[in-house]
Amino acid sequence: MKTYAYGFPRLGQNREYKRIIENYWKKNIGEEEMLHRIQSLDEERLAKYETYVDLFPVGEMTLYCNMLDTAIMIGLYTKGDYKDYFELCRGKKALKLTKWFNTNYHYLVPDFRGFSPNDFKLCWNKPREELERHKKGIPYLIGPFTFLKLSTGIPKEKFGDYLLAISDVYKEIVEEFSKVHIDEPAFVLDISQEEVKIIKEAYKNIGGRLYLFTYYEAVDFLKEIYNLPLLGIGLDFVAGKENLRYIEKHGFPSDKELIAGVVNGRNVWRTVQRDVKELIEHLYKFTDKVIISNSSPLYHLPVTIKGEDMKEELLKRLAFAEERLSELRLIAEKSFSEEFGIDNFGIDEEVRERVRSLTEENFERDKPYHIRREVQKKFLSLPLFPTTTIGSFPQTNEIRKKRRDFEKGRIKKEEYDSFIKEKIKDLIEFEEKSGLDVLVHGEFERSDMVEFFAKKLQGVATTKNGWIISYGTRAYRPPIIYGDIKRKEPMTVKEISYAQSLTQKPVKAILTGPVTIIAWSFTREDIPVKEVAYQIALSLYNEVCDLEKKGIRIIQIDEPAFRERAPIKKRNWDRYFEWAIKSFRLASRAKPETQIHTHMCYSKFAEIIDKILMMDFDVISIEASRNRGALIGCFKDKCFDRGIGPGIWDVHSPLVPSVCDMKRVVEKAMEFIPKKSLWINPDCGLKTRDWKEVVPAIGNMVKAAKEIRDELKFLSTDR
Ligand code: GLN
Ligand code: ZN
Repeated sequence: MKTYAYGFPRLGQNREYKRIIENYWKKNIGEEEMLHRIQSLDEERLAKYETYVDLFPVGEMTLYCNMLDTAIMIGLYTKGDYKDYFELCRGKKALKLTKWFNTNYHYLVPDFRGFSPNDFKLCWNKPREELERHKKGIPYLIGPFTFLKLSTGIPKEKFGDYLLAISDVYKEIVEEFSKVHIDEPAFVLDISQEEVKIIKEAYKNIGGRLYLFTYYEAVDFLKEIYNLPLLGIGLDFVAGKENLRYIEKHGFPSDKELIAGVVNGRNVWRTVQRDVKELIEHLYKFTDKVIISNSSPLYHLPVTIKGEDMKEELLKRLAFAEERLSELRLIAEKSFSEEFGIDNFGIDEEVRERVRSLTEENFERDKPYHIRREVQKKFLSLPLFPTTTIGSFPQTNEIRKKRRDFEKGRIKKEEYDSFIKEKIKDLIEFEEKSGLDVLVHGEFERSDMVEFFAKKLQGVATTKNGWIISYGTRAYRPPIIYGDIKRKEPMTVKEISYAQSLTQKPVKAILTGPVTIIAWSFTREDIPVKEVAYQIALSLYNEVCDLEKKGIRIIQIDEPAFRERAPIKKRNWDRYFEWAIKSFRLASRAKPETQIHTHMCYSKFAEIIDKILMMDFDVISIEASRNRGALIGCFKDKCFDRGIGPGIWDVHSPLVPSVCDMKRVVEKAMEFIPKKSLWINPDCGLKTRDWKEVVPAIGNMVKAAKEIRDELKFLSTDR
């Protein structure tokens, strides 16, 4: 049995990738040096494949994003020099970043406005260059359908023209190679008959000798793929169980290889030998051309578990990217030996009992919204257009350094704690002086909004070096939810109640919601995700009660991953949203007078607006700098009666918006949303911004609110 692996992380075991490229940005190293080092990093990466598997792609390495590289290859952007390249990634003309499928990996979105199907042209033969350099591996390409489907600016009715036109360029590329690796994850989306038709046409045109990979889910139109001219078809048998059902029913074409994704590319639990053996034996009933592979690209996993010092019990159950390669080899050699199932590990009966005994009441607040609104109005006495922020303030180098010092044991806990207290105090002073209405404590003590909570919860482990790329050179360390979850002690009360003790104004407590904690962690697969979500929700609920006891009147539960975690196929949405919504309600069952906020960002909300409304929060703040009109419009259609703060300042840009800019957004929002419901706030947290932008922008924001209030005094106030 042959093995085939792909998507091995480009980051390097010690985030070398990040260091090399960022050092180039900082002008610490020159272009040649940067390229040279990236190439040797890639050699090391390819060597991993060579050590363990028979087949693998070459050319997956990129200096920032493979979607951008593809766009350059086919002539959408000019290659230029490296400065031009990074300008497209992070300069003033930078392309938008968006989440890649239902993952927390982001890609740059190619924009086809002003580009016609006649403009496609092979401008950069990246696969040829890469193969020439490495001399081994199968040239790698993002498939034309996935590439165009994830791009923007192509008129819907013209999609077929673009796909056919680009397929000529692909034909030209693949012709010269004896084999080509082509990724088409977009085949697992909800695909229309019309699209299937043009996919078939495009692939007939491309011809060549392709290994075509699909992943993250099952493909609905496999039969049509069976008839394409391909060497092999890669299918995900971990997330896409329906692929197996399909093969059982319709068989598998005898002229193609089945590249069976049997080891998980998206989660960290060791493959269970018994299960994988059964699966492979089963597949052999339908074809004898089986190659085994990972179920999805391995870059969703950290590089290796080597060097981690978690408890042995947990460590022996884990496999990161390199361990997946080794699993493939062991499976192929039939030499899989030791086995550690994860069942019976990390169980806490008390926690399970608490979830079992939940009743419908636990998901309902005591009073309906229209009553809460009146109670809160009295309790909080906020002005019209209350101003606030999303929670975090700049995480300066000074703060990061202190945290590192503390983690490395270079300074004592007391010193770190009092440093954080100092920062909180300064911030409260600043917020008061600025005239904000609802203050926050600034989240200075948090490394990351998920990791921070993970460290405080039973049943969740964090890694030392388990980095994965989120986008470009940016990496984060997803925690590992390995057992039943419980709060060990209050998680945020100390800092937030300290902040509240410094001011008469309400301080808004910030928590991270269950869906986001789950989405940005690795989770157990044998415990239903709903159970995990309720366990987290109950821990947060305890926190909410403790905050209330300390006099906190407003609590925000962030759910930026609420949309991202939704399944790829809409037919699976209901089951997801049921637990997603209920876990929020469970966590946020505060007293009627406590105002519950939530925050979401960077997703398309219009299509899930009904679901969002079912969360029963009192106020939502939402990213709105992209396509503001459509977003706010959809709230109007729903007679939205909750408080809403459509972000009026795009915090992912260093520009400081003027009072006028900000007022314009509020005025636009007022066309759709009753004045009494509007809040004024930035788009998202300010942790990546600089104080020199934050100070004037907050000033302008408060001023905008004041001017709008003043102007309204002259007009009638009821709408
Ligand atoms: N409260 C978080 C912050 O301000 C929210 C971050 C997010 O939405 N991703 O940083
Ligand atoms: Zn946000």
